[in-house]
Amino acid sequence: MRKGILIVVSGFSGAGKGTLMKKLVQEYDNYALSISATTRNPRPGEENGREYFFLKKEEFKQKIAENGLIEYARYCDNYYGTPRAYVEKQLADGKDVILEIEIQGALKVKKQYPDALLLFVMPPSAEELRRRLEGRGTETQDVIDKRMHRAREEAEGIEEYEYIVVNDDLDVCVRELHEIITAAHNTPLRNKDFIEKMRKELEGEK
Ligand code: 5GP
Repeated sequence: MRKGILIVVSGFSGAGKGTLMKKLVQEYDNYALSISATTRNPRPGEENGREYFFLKKEEFKQKIAENGLIEYARYCDNYYGTPRAYVEKQLADGKDVILEIEIQGALKVKKQYPDALLLFVMPPSAEELRRRLEGRGTETQDVIDKRMHRAREEAEGIEEYEYIVVNDDLDVCVRELHEIITAAHNTPLRNKDFIEKMRKELEGEK
């Protein structure tokens, strides 16, 4: 059975990560999308347990205390974290598990799981990013400005990621993501056991 890998996807708010990930999971088998916990309020149309587990601050703190989160971070006045149990179960089942998380969390995951694949989704331009955030129609101007500011900060960390993907055309971008992940399975870093086994076998040969 092919071993599952952790795929960490970051990108500025409004880059279209959510839509991309939903489509990736729909189009290909073998991906499992982790659902994060957050203390932010649901946006119109979001459902508890589908987009996020929406928790009160005390409930979130409880999760941290129980070691129930792989990582968590504060982002624009709210907490976000990755529940541990689901991720570990899916990896053990051979699934590639996708975490759609911001950069601080991504770096924490990389430390704990050195073979995690870190991908960064970019919009074609900053202007397009603002247009998408405004087009959503769910955020106030103040929140949009905060998120644009945060994008500037996050842009400083892009070199920590293994690949960038530009989300201009959704279908093209989904295909590109899948190709990158497929190739990533074949790096020596992610095949240590197989390489070791081969070396042992070769030692036994004359
Ligand atoms: P939003 O409020 O737009 O849904 O998410 C805000 C930011 O939080 C996004 O960059 C998103 O990727 C990130 N995020 C979502 N879930 C998690 C999580 O579990 N951990 C971390 N560190 N960031 C997350």
